[in-house]
Formats: sequence, C-alpha cells, structure tokens
Amino acid sequence: MTGSGSQDARAAAAGTAPSPGGARAWARYFRRVVPYVPGEQPAGDRLIKLNTNENPYPPAPGVAEALRQMDAGALRRYPDPTAGALTNALAARYGLRPEQVFVGVGSDDVLGTAFLTFFNSDRPILFPDVTYSFYPVWAGLYKIPYETRPLDADFRIRPEDYGGANGGVVFPNPNAPTGCLMGLSEVEDILRRNPDVVVIVDEAYIDFGGVSALPLLARYENLLVVQTFSKSRSMAGIRIGCAFGAPELIKAMLDVKYSYNSYTMNLPSILLGVEAVKDEAYFQETVGKIVSTRERAKERLSQLGFAFTDSYANFLFIRHRTVPAAELYEVLRAHRIYVRYFSGPRVSDYLRVTVGTDAQMEELYRFLETYLNGR
Ligand SMILES: *Cc1c(COP(=O)(O)O)cnc(C)c1O
Repeated sequence: MTGSGSQDARAAAAGTAPSPGGARAWARYFRRVVPYVPGEQPAGDRLIKLNTNENPYPPAPGVAEALRQMDAGALRRYPDPTAGALTNALAARYGLRPEQVFVGVGSDDVLGTAFLTFFNSDRPILFPDVTYSFYPVWAGLYKIPYETRPLDADFRIRPEDYGGANGGVVFPNPNAPTGCLMGLSEVEDILRRNPDVVVIVDEAYIDFGGVSALPLLARYENLLVVQTFSKSRSMAGIRIGCAFGAPELIKAMLDVKYSYNSYTMNLPSILLGVEAVKDEAYFQETVGKIVSTRERAKERLSQLGFAFTDSYANFLFIRHRTVPAAELYEVLRAHRIYVRYFSGPRVSDYLRVTVGTDAQMEELYRFLETYLNGR
C-alpha cells in the first residue's frame, strides 16, 4: 500500500491522529467496532437459499390478509410506543402478564438492548466459544468484558463451566450454529450457579423441538428468555423479536429503550405480529413440517457420507467424512444452492444448512450425490 490515503487509513485503524496538518482529526473519536457479518442475500429466484435459517413457508394467512387491509392513512400517526397489542397477544399466548413482555425490532434489537441494560459490570460476561457470532460484537460495541467457555468435544455446552464470578451469562438454546439442545434441567443448572447476575437464554430456534425455559420464569427473577418471529413464524422480513422476564427486568429494558428510541415497533409490525400469534394451528403445522423434513434430512445426509450434530433447530450442522466443507460450499454456490460456511476454529469443517421445503432438500441431495460420485 502506498499513498497518503492508506496512511490515513492505518492511522485511523490505530486510533492515532493522521499526518500533521491532516484534516481528519475527528476520526480519532470515532467509535471503532468490528461489525457482525450477516449471511448473503443473493438476488434472483432461480436459487435455493439455505444460508440464513429463514422459514421456507409463508407467514400465517392472516398476516397476508392484514397486509391487504392495511390503512395507509394510519401511518400519519406515531405508533403505540408500548406496542400494547403485540405485547398483550404474546402475554396471552405464553400465559404471562404484559409487564413480563418486551418487544423489539428482531431479536437482535432485543438482545442488543438486553446487553446494554444488564451487562454493566466490570466482571466478564460468559458465553460459549462456538455460538451466535453477534454476542462478541455487542460486547465490543458496549465495551462489555467477556470470556468464552469451550464447548465439549461433541459441541455441547457444559453447565458447570458457567459458574464463578461473572457479569452475566448468555447462550442460545438450541445453540447456533450447532443446533445442540440443552434440557430444562441443564438450563436450570446454569441459573442455579448464577443467582446474582442476569442469565439470557436466546431461544431463536426453540420452537423446532426444544423445551422452552419459560416455565423457569416463575422461580428465577434473573432469567430473560428471548425469542424471534424470524424463524418459526416465517417473518424475518418484518423484524420482530421479544423477551420474557420478571417485570423488574422488562422495566429496566424499557427504560433503556425509551432513552434511545421510543418508537422501535412500527405500526405494520405490530398489526402483522398480532396476526401471526393468533394463528396457532398454522404455526404448529409449519413447524411440524420443518421438523419432519429435518429428521428425514438426517437420514439422507448420513447415507451421503455426512456426519452432523443432533440438531433441534431449523438447520443442520454437517461435515462430510472425506470432502472439505469449503469445497462443498463453493460447488454448491456455483450451482446456486446457498448454505453458510464459517471459517473460524472448530467450525471450519462444517456447513450450516437451513432446512428448506422437501423439494428444495431433494435438489440438495441430488446435487450432492452427483457431485460426490463424480469426484
Ligand atoms: C437468527 C438469530 C437471532 C436473531 O434473529 P432476528 O431476526 O434478529 O430476530 C438471534 N439469535 C440467534 C441465535 C439467531 O440464530
């Protein structure tokens, strides 16, 4: 690299002032962050998209109907800052009081708000070494010290690793990108070891066969359960996430939210979210279809020479016994089948494959079979 431009870039990256007389003194006051990298959203429709854990089925029919009926004139006004219709619907669905429910712009917004609200200690927060890669990003953004705890050889979280002095605990259940599920007693084990800090259970994938930690709310006032409409409710595009916890926790999150942006939930999100929660039968039906496609995928992929974790999510975490994951990722991509590949330690042997429709999965098996046989 040559030239003053790259010199300035280096100076900025190092947090130092640019060359004397340079005009970029302000750059040293920028908040420097290493951002999260979301999965690719390729354009076009002749492709099979199994890379971001979206639901292959449309949202509940009532969502489309409410969208058609929507009154554009109502957008003139600010939305309800409490998103009351949606928090009430969620409280009723999960047998909780509205004061136990927080909603936000996707669970990323909810988790970010929870990090900012609860993880304000000098002690490090704890999360697994292999997990949702947004956790270290929020920790960096909010300057929260953190330590990771290694998963065991089978990619499982060991509850005994989450004790001792810490500033809080966060983990997904099922974990991402492994799909491994912890039982309720293991989740409770972590809570029992951490009576003095907030424990966040990120249940983005819990509806695909796991047991939610929601019943533990009755006994643990330091538990926050976070869920999303992006996966099991087929609404990644609308951006709705929610958190359930003791009124004291929810109040603290609302105080932070109202100190930043009162109107996070726009009117269409509130109305369409309510429609999704109303249709329990459709929710059960689509979740059931994905679970049965996933279980069939385990058989088919095993016949094709793949090993994998026992995923309870809407994705599989797979490794071929002889062919490197990076190679498979590239050939699948060239064939317009998109899956997710993570290059980090321990995970670079694996591909994360979202469970699609049966037809999409058949095309995946067909392609893999042909490629593996011809290699
Ligand atoms: C997908 C995902 C989220 C965030 O999803 P939103 O679309 O922001 O609701 C949070 N945690 C995990 C583990 C996820 O996989």
